[in-house]
Amino acid sequence: MAIVIDGKALAAKCKQQVACEVKKLSGRPGLAVIIVGDNPASRTYVNSKKKDCEECGIYSEEYALLANSPQQELLELIELLNGRDDIDGILVQLPLPKGFEEQKVLLTIHPDKDVDSFHPVNVGRLVTGQKRFVPCTPAGVMEMLREYDIDPAGKHCVVVGRSNIVGKPMAMLLLEANGTVTICHSKTPDLGEVCRQADILVSAVGRRNLITADMIKDGAVVIDVAMNRDDAGKLCGDVDYATVSSKAAYITPVPGGVGPMTRAMLMKNTLTAARIHGK
Ligand code: NAP
Repeated sequence: MAIVIDGKALAAKCKQQVACEVKKLSGRPGLAVIIVGDNPASRTYVNSKKKDCEECGIYSEEYALLANSPQQELLELIELLNGRDDIDGILVQLPLPKGFEEQKVLLTIHPDKDVDSFHPVNVGRLVTGQKRFVPCTPAGVMEMLREYDIDPAGKHCVVVGRSNIVGKPMAMLLLEANGTVTICHSKTPDLGEVCRQADILVSAVGRRNLITADMIKDGAVVIDVAMNRDDAGKLCGDVDYATVSSKAAYITPVPGGVGPMTRAMLMKNTLTAARIHGK
């Protein structure tokens, strides 16, 4: 049976470490979270970010804009926050409602306050080995591997999914850690064939039961990033947990795996932003 990687416990530890570091700063870090529209999942995420900030001693502000607000209003708000010394990080909750140009919005966030690390400057920094912020979800995965002494060096790491938010930065971090990395996507002809070669498999697709036991090498490390709902409305990942956990050496659960780590890494990035701003 696989060892279950406890993301919840590790996230609590990471947040405690952030809280300790925050106390040593000359000023309080500040995070502004902007939510546009009334997507219930986004609302849940925003509420939990607020709670995380409280736990870590980080000042937080929340802005809620209507789904039909003009994009200009959002851009002006970001510009205002870019100029404030008490705000170190700005996060725009994605996805944005129809009609908003996501790239334009993300480009408006100053790279030094881009705690989600989606700005092309920060993406470029990551790719060229000069990273400051790392996108929270892949950063969380790397923390999990470190905590469980799983070294990607020399391992075949297979990342399923190539989004800018998860798949691509995940692959970059594994490469930086000296893994041999393969990225799969919807046009990969035989996903099982590639996954079976993985020493470390990270799935970030968003399709329930995509990864089944026959696609796993004995003793592999299986990281499930996805957040799907089963027929009963219960949270689940891409991985068929019951069967895969009997074959893998390590596995992350959903919920309680990557999700809490993503939140903890946002706190860490906000701390980094405060340090960048001389606090
Ligand atoms: P996304 O932008 O929709 O990307 C999904 C990726 O999966 C795409 O690259 C797509 O390929 C690929 N894909 C789709 N069907 C596939 C198939 N049958 N075989 C192989 N690859 C396939 O999603 P995302 O934003 O990266 O998120 C992925 C999942 O992670 C979602 O469930 C999301 O909710 C979850 N997530 C979780 C956290 C967390 O904190 N735990 C954070 C972020 C996201 P193409 O590029 O070819 O279309």
